[in-house]
Amino acid sequence: MKTLFEKIVAREIPAAIVYEDDLVLAIRDINPQAPTHLLIFPKKPVARIAEAAATDEPLLGHLLLKAAEVADKLGLKKNGYRLVINNGADGGETVPHLHCHILGGRHLGWPPG
Ligand code: 5GP
Repeated sequence: MKTLFEKIVAREIPAAIVYEDDLVLAIRDINPQAPTHLLIFPKKPVARIAEAAATDEPLLGHLLLKAAEVADKLGLKKNGYRLVINNGADGGETVPHLHCHILGGRHLGWPPG
């Protein structure tokens, strides 16, 4: 069965796509927690970072570099932004397809709730 994000990759579910290449897709989060809130994820359905394999290393590097590139493209570089990967129940993961949140456009508190 396809994950939610695989369905978005396949255009079976609509999303506001901000960036796409062969390996990753970046979309706007449907329930934004900051003025800019994107999700960037590998097209390959790795469930979560704890499930990533050693062979996923180039993919994960690509994901992070593209996250920074997309943040820059959306004007977040100057004031800063936050990348978040939630893992498992205590981490707040709700979609079991690895994704990195890109949050910016306001000052973000620390520690997270
Ligand atoms: P998690 O809680 O797993 O770290 O993040 C999942 C994120 O996916 C949440 O921020 C949630 O708002 C977002 N989300 C859930 N369903 C959809 C959807 O159908 N479309 C989009 N664009 N985002 C979604």
